[in-house]
Amino acid sequence: MQHTLAEPFTLSGVTLHQGVHTCVCVLPAPANHGRVFTRVDLPDMPRVPARAIHVRTTTLSTELAEGQAAVRTVEHLLAALYGMGIDNCSIEVDGPELPILDGSARLYTEAIRRSGRVAQQTRQPVLKISEPVTVLSGDRSVIALPTSESGLRLSYAIDFAHAEIGSQWYSLRLEPEVFASEVAPARTFTLLEQVEYLRARGLIQGGSLECALVLGPQGWLTPPAWPNEPVRHKLLDLVGDLSLTGLQLEGHIIAYKAGHDLHSQLAGQLIEQYERNYASLR
Ligand SMILES: [Zn+2]
Repeated sequence: MQHTLAEPFTLSGVTLHQGVHTCVCVLPAPANHGRVFTRVDLPDMPRVPARAIHVRTTTLSTELAEGQAAVRTVEHLLAALYGMGIDNCSIEVDGPELPILDGSARLYTEAIRRSGRVAQQTRQPVLKISEPVTVLSGDRSVIALPTSESGLRLSYAIDFAHAEIGSQWYSLRLEPEVFASEVAPARTFTLLEQVEYLRARGLIQGGSLECALVLGPQGWLTPPAWPNEPVRHKLLDLVGDLSLTGLQLEGHIIAYKAGHDLHSQLAGQLIEQYERNYASLR
């Protein structure tokens, strides 16, 4: 069955890229509505559905756009909604970007838990992955495979030259409780040299040690909560980008050194597989 929120919730804070303060309000929505953003600060309050077809850029974060209206850094809220099983909601935001909060999906996930979840009288479309899908870019990849296991398994691997990160591998079967405790609190991570490079170009104006794990030449400036917090965060980003399918997924998705670009391409190809399967049934 599809689900929505029992009660609306609101969160606000500074945005990572522009460093402005925005407020996001997530409200219950009817069955088959999907997860849809509304830019309440713009004339006529344009809507941007959270679907793969609306992905505009994937540099540093996932940005969705419809016409002139865009909304950026959507992946952590979308991960929380998908991970906690919220299929339908209206997401009102009063600026071009969602607040970064602590760089994880923890506060969004806790807010969803407090709001509660309500079953609706309509089935959620399901894609049981029936044939492999591969997205490659150099040595980076993301692959979706059929599996005999029920539900959705996600496996992620990263490999960094920096000893503090190194090679990390993480795999889990996605369920709300596991998502909330093992994935949602994992913060985004970056290298100090990259922070300095981006800041010098007027980017990540809202970045601080409160919203990311930062690795400097002498080690972590903020200690990770888990030794493998970086790969857990990559898996969190993958959950957010897979939400752009608008489908309940069953299968095994394996990512190696991937990112928003490959994740969102995979989401688009999974929608195509769903549409092919659906057409062949008719
Ligand atoms: Zn992220």
